[in-house]
Amino acid sequence: MPYNELRKDYLLNRWVVIAKERSRRPTDLAKPRPRTNKTPMCPLCVGNETMTPPAILLYQKINGEIIRSKDPPHGERPKNWLIRAIPNLYPAFTPPQHPKDASQIFISKEFGYAIGCHEVLIESPNHEEDPADAELPQLELVINAYIDRFRALSAKAYVKYVSIFRNFGVEAGASLGHTHSQIIAIPMIPKIIQEEMQATKTYHKEHKRCIFCDIVERESVTQRCIHQNNDFIVIAPYASINPMEFWIIPKKHAPNIANLSHAEVKALAAALKTSLKALKDVVNDPPYNYGIHQTTDEGYHWHIEVYPKLVTWAGFEKNTGVYINTVLPESAAKALKKAIKHSLSIDKK
Ligand SMILES: [Zn+2]
Ligand SMILES: [Zn+2]
Ligand SMILES: [Zn+2]
Repeated sequence: MPYNELRKDYLLNRWVVIAKERSRRPTDLAKPRPRTNKTPMCPLCVGNETMTPPAILLYQKINGEIIRSKDPPHGERPKNWLIRAIPNLYPAFTPPQHPKDASQIFISKEFGYAIGCHEVLIESPNHEEDPADAELPQLELVINAYIDRFRALSAKAYVKYVSIFRNFGVEAGASLGHTHSQIIAIPMIPKIIQEEMQATKTYHKEHKRCIFCDIVERESVTQRCIHQNNDFIVIAPYASINPMEFWIIPKKHAPNIANLSHAEVKALAAALKTSLKALKDVVNDPPYNYGIHQTTDEGYHWHIEVYPKLVTWAGFEKNTGVYINTVLPESAAKALKKAIKHSLSIDKK
């Protein structure tokens, strides 16, 4: 019997077995997914603003212009919004209660308090305007809101990392059906980011180059390249641990999204929509999570990792942190690429 391939992540000391014998075509993973019915009282829908706390950030269209207001007057809950960021009603991390706590940046280490912020970003007034189907101008607003919240939260003394992520579908942890992302600011740098930062440093010492800049350059000519535009590339990573996993990487080196240009925001919205639409088409709108990996360390290169939830990790994965992936990343890329080509040909008609 031929050996399975064992692959290591570009940066992390993380291994995956590409199980060829069990290998499945991407389309085999497509399951019927009944559309969850719109809850009669969605707290995130327009008109139900009183069911949630007042917004921290609001985008409104006033006289044809997009007006952004940060910290809108307390208690006001206008209905004519395009984007709303609100505090999570059941936060995992909460802001310091006293000014003294905010300046004592080591408080969480010393006393074990989960100090930080936990916000819900409502991406659209339309209940089901998820990125795969969103209008591009709306998706650009979402990215601008990510930037606004990243800037505001990473400036706080007690915040060491800002996690911006999206759960889509009940199986991926989304408890609300309304299109939304979450932002959690925490008082420490998580392990996976630390490992990526360390690997980036080590690589730079050896090669005098950024590992992500090299990944962009090299993967752009492999079978794992799914899509690219002027500013972003979408790839199925060499050692994907999830079937159909893909990453969106900016071509320009930057540690985070804080200084994305207007053109880059547009290009990111397009790359995000194109790739998530392809995922939706190939495996029938699966649940997924995506998250931005970013830091304030200039040597680091930010990116988005998209993890479709098509299988359940079991004993081996949980016991060892070694993964078995039944879809070859090259096959995932091929299927997604084909779906993108198909969408483009429909658009042209
Ligand atoms: Zn809703
Ligand atoms: Zn780079
Ligand atoms: Zn990463």
